[in-house]
Amino acid sequence: MVIPDEQKITLQSIDTSSFGIDVKMLRLDLVHPYISGNKWFKLKHNLQEAKVKGFEHIMTFGGAFSNHILATAAAGKMYGIKTTGIIRGEEHLPLNSTLAYAQSCGMALRYMDRTTYRKKNEPEIIASLQEELAQPFIIPEGGSNEFAVKGCKEIMDWIPTGTDYICLAAGTGGTSAGLLSSPKNTSHTIVFPALKGGGFLQEDISSLMEEDCRPSWSLQTDYHFGGYAKKKPELLKFIDWFFATHHIPLDFIYTGKLMFGVFDLMKKGYFPSESSIVCIHTGGLRPEDYA
Ligand SMILES: *Cc1c(COP(=O)(O)O)cnc(C)c1O
Repeated sequence: MVIPDEQKITLQSIDTSSFGIDVKMLRLDLVHPYISGNKWFKLKHNLQEAKVKGFEHIMTFGGAFSNHILATAAAGKMYGIKTTGIIRGEEHLPLNSTLAYAQSCGMALRYMDRTTYRKKNEPEIIASLQEELAQPFIIPEGGSNEFAVKGCKEIMDWIPTGTDYICLAAGTGGTSAGLLSSPKNTSHTIVFPALKGGGFLQEDISSLMEEDCRPSWSLQTDYHFGGYAKKKPELLKFIDWFFATHHIPLDFIYTGKLMFGVFDLMKKGYFPSESSIVCIHTGGLRPEDYA
């Protein structure tokens, strides 16, 4: 298995000259085929911390389609750390491609009913998992903790100074909190929640952010397309058009919604002319998705 390679990350121009706006896409997705995009930046310091502290086992949480579960499983295999994924809901066989891949990397899958899953961060639940699994290193759902924020701060190293806007999609908001915690970020950052009712991210992102930073940022909650992983024909059509026109593959859960939103805002004149925008390609597609 190839190891993540940050040298592969590029800043790619997108031709939006008809809008008079300079749009670039930061291709974090190129860092690794499975530990893709933001997931590498969220995991790297968690892996290091687990190693330094002598843990041989990482446990984390996610839904059955979670890119974070997949990335953690791949990273565990690569770095020789045992992994357990606590999966929301009951088992469905045959396993979907995400869980089948995670299992093939050696991740042990355990299922947690939805009611318990909602309480997964409560001390009693954590304590019983700790005991049952012999004290693993625990990474929260989506990987969003202080080590994720530390890693995602590094993403700013690829963004040119003087960029007016940074736009990115969000699930748990860990990646956004990282970008917003960097003193190098002097742009206005626009966060596009992939979930319906993404207003909760205002608080979640603020609480993940490192102290003493006062970044300029806002949420665009109108581009969730009905909610998490809902496939709306208008969105799928846009993703096809974007690939045909700009040759960059987008997923329908995160980056497709982001770019639809950015183009829609450009059409509506939201960005002043001659603005510069960097959109973050957070990954989310696997090689078999293009096959
Ligand atoms: C996980 C993921 C996100 C969301 O990241 P958060 O840090 O949870 O906000 C965005 N885009 C892609 C492609 C992802 O896989």
